[in-house]
Parts: sequence; C-alpha cells; structure tokens
Amino acid sequence: MTNTTTKHRVLSGIRATGRLHLGNYLGAVKGMLELQANPDYETLYMVADAHAVTTPYEVESLRKNRREVVVDYLACGLDPEKSIIFQQAMVPAHFELEFYFSSVTTIAKMQHLPTFKDKVKQYPEHATMALLNYPVLMAADILVYKADSVPVGIDQEPHIEVAREIARRMNQGYGTDFPEPQRFATAGGYVPSLAGEGKMSKSVDGSYINLTDDLAQIKKVLGGAPTDSGKGEMIPAQGGVANLLTFVELFQGKDRRAEYEQMYLSSGLKYGYLKSELADSIFAVLKPIQEKRKDLESRPEYVEEVIQTGAAKARAIADQTVAEVKAKMGLA
Ligand code: ATP
Ligand code: MG
Repeated sequence: MTNTTTKHRVLSGIRATGRLHLGNYLGAVKGMLELQANPDYETLYMVADAHAVTTPYEVESLRKNRREVVVDYLACGLDPEKSIIFQQAMVPAHFELEFYFSSVTTIAKMQHLPTFKDKVKQYPEHATMALLNYPVLMAADILVYKADSVPVGIDQEPHIEVAREIARRMNQGYGTDFPEPQRFATAGGYVPSLAGEGKMSKSVDGSYINLTDDLAQIKKVLGGAPTDSGKGEMIPAQGGVANLLTFVELFQGKDRRAEYEQMYLSSGLKYGYLKSELADSIFAVLKPIQEKRKDLESRPEYVEEVIQTGAAKARAIADQTVAEVKAKMGLA
C-alpha cells in the first residue's frame, strides 16, 4: 500500500468554528501556500468541519462556516488547480479510519494532551468522547492520504506526535506503510492572543483579528490590547507588551521591533503610535485578501464547484487507504 505518486503529500486543515484570523494565516495558511507552490508536493487542504462538533456549536453557524472557510482559503490564494480543497465531512473515510486508529490508542494518552486539558477548562460541561478522540481523527485526516508534511501552528505539535505514534503502531501491528508525519513550520507558528494571555484563537473573544476585518476594526482590537507605562529596565518577556512586540516583528520586521525596544529602555514607548502604525501594516497584508474575497462572493457557483470537485478527488485517495487498512486488519 504505497503512495503511488512520487510526490510528498501534504495535509492541513482549519476548524470551521469561525472566520480565519491572523494566527491561522501566519501559522497555517502561509505554510500551505508555500507547499502548494512547490512542485515536489501534492497538497490537500481541508475544512475541518467535523472537528467543529468536538466543542459546543450552533448548527446554522457551522453550516455557514464550513463554506466560509473554503472562501477564505481561496481568498488567501489556495488554488484548486494546484491543491485538493475539500470539506472533511464529505469524505467519510476519515471517520472510518479514525475508528480503526482508536484501537491502537490509549485513553490515558489522550487525556494527558495539553489541548484536551485546555478545551475541558474552556468548556467544563463538554468533556465528550469526540473531544477526547480529536487527535485520533486528526491522525486519520493526515494518514488517510499518507501525508508526511503538515503545515500547522505550534499548538498542533502534540497532535502530530500522536499521528506519528499511531502510524508506528499500525505499521508494526498490521504491516501498513504509513509515513511518520512532520510539522511544516512557518515564522508565525505561534501568534499570541491580543487579549494578553495564550494564543490567538477563533473561539476566544478579543484575542483575534480576522482576515476580513477593516482598518477601524483592527485599530479597535489593537486598542484593547493590554500595555504598561511604556518604559522600563527590561523588555517584558510575556504579557500584552511582549505580544505587541511579536506582532511588530511579524508585520514590520525585526528592525522595527529593535527600535521600539530601544525606546522602551530609554525615552519611553508611545503605544498609541505603535498600535496605529501596526494596524496599517496588518491592513496592508489583509487588503488584497479582502478584495479577492469580494470577487469570490459574487461567484457562488464557482465556490460550489470547487467544493464538489475537491471532495471527489479526496474521496478517491482516502477510500483506497481505508480498503487497504481493512484488508490488513482482517476486515475484508
Ligand atoms: P479554535 O479556537 O476553534 O480551536 P483556532 O483559532 O485554534 O480555533 P484551528 O482551526 O484550531 O484555529 O487551527 C487552524 C490552524 O491554525 C492550525 O494549523 C493551528 O495550528 C493554526 N493556528 C491556530 N491558532 C494559531 C496561532 N495563534 N498562531 C499560529 N497558528 C495558529
Ligand atoms: Mg484550535
């Protein structure tokens, strides 16, 4: 059961829990674009709609978001001529493989993952089996395509480790030939929250700037980011100011960051100015994405065609892997 193409396969996905934000763009989409442009890679990019049901959600929002993420992908430059773009729920093989993979995964291991603990803290009433199984489904998402490269943010590293472990167990136990996938890292692998703590997340209000935000909204969110007096003997290593400096580095470069740090240590730093200049730099990155999005919104039939074509292509690959696994496991 070898991957018949000579190319490396790539799989990545974003949960359909809201609009894409700067963290998703820098941590995941930038890497997706880089690999899409590399002819040595066959790229598959999904909307992780089924992963959205692992945390509380509204049915109508999910229905809308699973399409919106496709539009965001296209607006960011994912190209259906070069990548297979699809919605996870349209490829049932993911869920079948998840079940087989769950037979080589222990409960203890899943309970100890930091992502599981975080989400349980966030939604104490929703510590469900689906949430516990999230990394197993993610392993299936990747390995159903025998992908060896996964452009995702740093927060996903423990899940990729789980995928490697599952690949090893399946290969040892059943003679399958799954690769051990690696994270494909980008410069923005960890974009901090603008609310002062943790990472930027779709599901944490005040933490994010969406790719669809206009300049006024960007200024508003940055305006709410916590700061200090602007002066001190040491540059803060964490918290609101440290996070703002990270954004400066990501959007304006290392030199600008160094200049601000110098001001902090000497004459003092004016956050109003920093935030306004940063807002302009962020908006300059988002503007072309927003223009492309507007064009896509006027072509719903094109978006629908991308969704249908992508699902058919993904299913053809995924169904074959599941058939191979069933045969190896004595189920066919
Ligand atoms: P949710 O809060 O619903 O989990 P999220 O904002 O964490 O949403 P995901 O859909 O879970 O987004 O993640 C999609 C991709 O974006 C993953 O590759 C993830 O690693 C990456 N990502 C998410 N947040 C960040 C961040 N703050 N910095 C860098 N990458 C991120
Ligand atoms: Mg997440």
